[in-house]
Amino acid sequence: MTTIIGSGTVLSGGERPAVLTDGGVAWHGDRVVAVDRMAALRAHYPEAEVVDARGGLILPGFVNLHHHFYSALARGLDPGFQPRGFGEVLEGLWWRLDRSLDQDAVRVSARLTLAACIRAGCTTVFDHHASPACIAGILDAIADEVAGAGLSAVLCYEASDRNGHDQAIAGVEENADFCGRHLAHPTIRGVMGLHASFTVSDETLAATARLRPHGVGVHLHVAEDPLDVRVSTALYGSGPIPRLEAAGLLDGHALLAHGIHLAVDDIDRVAAADAVLVHNPESNANNGVGRLDVVAAHRAGCRVALGTDGMGSSMLAALRFAFLAQRAAYRDPRVGFEVHPILLAATSRTAGRFLDEPLLGELCSGAPADIAVIDAPPPTPISPESTFGHLVYGAAGAAVRHTVARGRVLMRDFELLTLDLEETAREAREIAPRVWERFHALPVPTS
Ligand SMILES: [Zn+2]
Repeated sequence: MTTIIGSGTVLSGGERPAVLTDGGVAWHGDRVVAVDRMAALRAHYPEAEVVDARGGLILPGFVNLHHHFYSALARGLDPGFQPRGFGEVLEGLWWRLDRSLDQDAVRVSARLTLAACIRAGCTTVFDHHASPACIAGILDAIADEVAGAGLSAVLCYEASDRNGHDQAIAGVEENADFCGRHLAHPTIRGVMGLHASFTVSDETLAATARLRPHGVGVHLHVAEDPLDVRVSTALYGSGPIPRLEAAGLLDGHALLAHGIHLAVDDIDRVAAADAVLVHNPESNANNGVGRLDVVAAHRAGCRVALGTDGMGSSMLAALRFAFLAQRAAYRDPRVGFEVHPILLAATSRTAGRFLDEPLLGELCSGAPADIAVIDAPPPTPISPESTFGHLVYGAAGAAVRHTVARGRVLMRDFELLTLDLEETAREAREIAPRVWERFHALPVPTS
């Protein structure tokens, strides 16, 4: 059956989106079949069900290239000490939390985050997971939650030697197994996850290169803090980018989260390899680790895309924050338009590579029926040149009314249809105290 969503202002996606007022999108199965004026769609598909967009902005579903579902139960958690730097944030908060997760906690965390993604109009998400107490089979459990929620996802386990080499290899094997079984899956794929260069041994890098199925990429944190470059060099003789290159892992399917503290020649290597720098501006501000110079990276030829790194699930909020943070850093109200207007399109296009969907992030015939309707009817004229302004100054603060993923309506008139947020939060409040108890039993950093 054909369904139409409209009428509203359709922004077609891509780097220079077409703008169609009084428009709508028709889909059949999981594919868009037409984007047109609402009157034309109604005439062409008289039997179609109509989802009322109430004059809002109709966009391609958003894509998040770097998220951490497992972080959901950290909200309100007191680590019991004041971290003095990024190393202590990892050791004293995240590495204690991930060691405290069991499969029930992983599943409920995933469901909470997936609900937040749907509420933000996000239809494709890349998760970077850690749960050292349950590694084997954990990506299947997360995939099960993703499938139930109805999103598309690219999943991985962040292999790391921080708890010993056996656990690192268990992570690599979990990735390889999951990736191998999802090479042709229409909506759920895998990549080879690694934590970050400074906690990954040469043997683990070599195992990742050896076991990854052909064409599968890597997803890891890179130079989020100077610590990564410093410790990698001290322990393994070189920084993260030369190490990835030497292992044969720096290529067009390498997702490098952050990249803040890379040297100029490393940025050039990333650009030459066609790897992707994933900018996570809100998380970087929260951790006080600096910010990626997206303009310099873009000028050097890098593909720069956007993620949230567990700090929220709204890509429009991330985009707005990235834009404002650049202006704040430069103390210049003229900057911000060099790269930010194309970030969402670059993010979607990158995801399309991982899911074999070249039209992901566009609304046109044949594209995946991934659609977000934002409750932000444009109050002023809107054109391809002004869409970015409408997004960061208007839509970023508005609610998402409908979310459609691969033709399935996941949220209609602000109501989630595949998940029960109230029930999931209730379940999480039962599980969280047990997770926190295990967390507090683990030692805080002492150095
Ligand atoms: Zn991260």
